[in-house]
This record gives sequence, C-alpha cells and structure tokens, in this order.
Amino acid sequence: MCKFLKALFNKPQSGITSTQGDETGTTEPVIIFPEPVETGETTTDTDNDNNDESEAIVMTEDRLEVQRKIIDFAREMFNGQAREVNQIAVHCTATAEGRNVTMSELDSWHKARGFSKQKLSGHYCGYHFVIALDGTIMCGRDLREVGAHVSGYNSKSIGVCYVGGLDASGKKAKDTRTDEQKDTLIWLISELKHVLNIRKVQGHRDYSPDKNGNGIIESFEWIKDCPCFNAIPEYKDL
Ligand SMILES: [Zn+2]
Repeated sequence: MCKFLKALFNKPQSGITSTQGDETGTTEPVIIFPEPVETGETTTDTDNDNNDESEAIVMTEDRLEVQRKIIDFAREMFNGQAREVNQIAVHCTATAEGRNVTMSELDSWHKARGFSKQKLSGHYCGYHFVIALDGTIMCGRDLREVGAHVSGYNSKSIGVCYVGGLDASGKKAKDTRTDEQKDTLIWLISELKHVLNIRKVQGHRDYSPDKNGNGIIESFEWIKDCPCFNAIPEYKDL
C-alpha cells in the first residue's frame, strides 16, 4: 500500500517535498500524490505472500478523502507549519455492541463535557477519526487541531476511535470491533504511520501510569479499559 509514499516518508529529512531545480529552473517544492484510484477499485498488496485471503484494499470515497487529508497535513507538518505528531492513541466510544454512533452525537456528547468547538473542523468531538460499525471513517477534528482524547498526550498525538467497546448490555468492556472496523483500523493506522512517519501506536489504556514501575502497563494499572483490546501488538508491524 502506497509503497512510493512509504519510501518517501521513511526518510526523516526528506519529508514530503523534494526540490527540483535543474532543467526546469524552478525551486518549487514537488509534492508527490498517490496514484488516483477509482472508487471501489481494489489493489493488491504483493508484499504479503503468506496470506491468500483478505489481500484486496478497497479505496472507498471516505478513504480517499482521509488519505488526502493526511497528505495535506504531512506537507504542513514536515514544513513546520502544523503541529508535530509522533503517536496514535486508539479508543472506543464506550457504547453498546451493535449500536452505531454518528459524528453529530459525538459532537453533542463532547460539547456537554465542555470541549470547545474547533475553528477548522467545526467539531467538538475530541477524536480525529471515528470508525462506524460498517467500517466507514467519520472525520472529527482536523489533524492540525489538537485532539481531546488522552490526558497529557493530546498535543503530539492523533486520536483514532472505533464505535463500540461495551457488550450488548452496555455495561461490560468488550472488544466489539466488526470485521469492517478491524479492516479500516489497519488501513487508517497504516496510512498515518507511513505518511507521517509515526512509530508509536497504543491504546488509551496503555497511557495509564506504570504504578509498579516495571515498564509494562498491566491490566490492574489501567485507569480505564479503552479501547478494550491490546492495540500495541496489533499495529506494531504495519
Ligand atoms: Zn479512550
């Protein structure tokens, strides 16, 4: 997926732009965008030979829009015009299994919690991206806006949230991710990691204090269960 972007952004100094100034005489930065992909078209990742199933990546409208937002943000971040991010915090909405949540609901909940309306995005929602039950990505805060989702780490992080996280009764923590949500989380986190050169991805609960100081945030230390699954191993090799 986005192999040329991967190659481009894995060089920390080069960032998203390069300077072209020889034959053309221009010193305008050259922005390289992904190959346009038709909506619904599938691409195949030939890197993974082991897994014959689920190889196709579907570029839906929402994914194309999100990809564009990430690239635009990368251009500003690497040029020092936007905040610098270096980690992704994964969350759940802490809502009952099977219940969908809209962005306007999240806006009203977060407004009620005292979050302020953001200038660029117009959202109160503290997350940058929220993944609906069907895997669709809903955009919350603009990436240039600091999120409100993980105390003490908002300024340098991106908040990614899936809808769910509680069992059907709405009382007990549960990994309720649908197959579509799992697929989108992998696609989104992979894009963010490669385009923005991010290495650290962890769940909200992994930001809990390490009470016994052994270097591992264990379950008894979690201040909350969010996102109700172990995000660190799941996304470390993307
Ligand atoms: Zn959370």
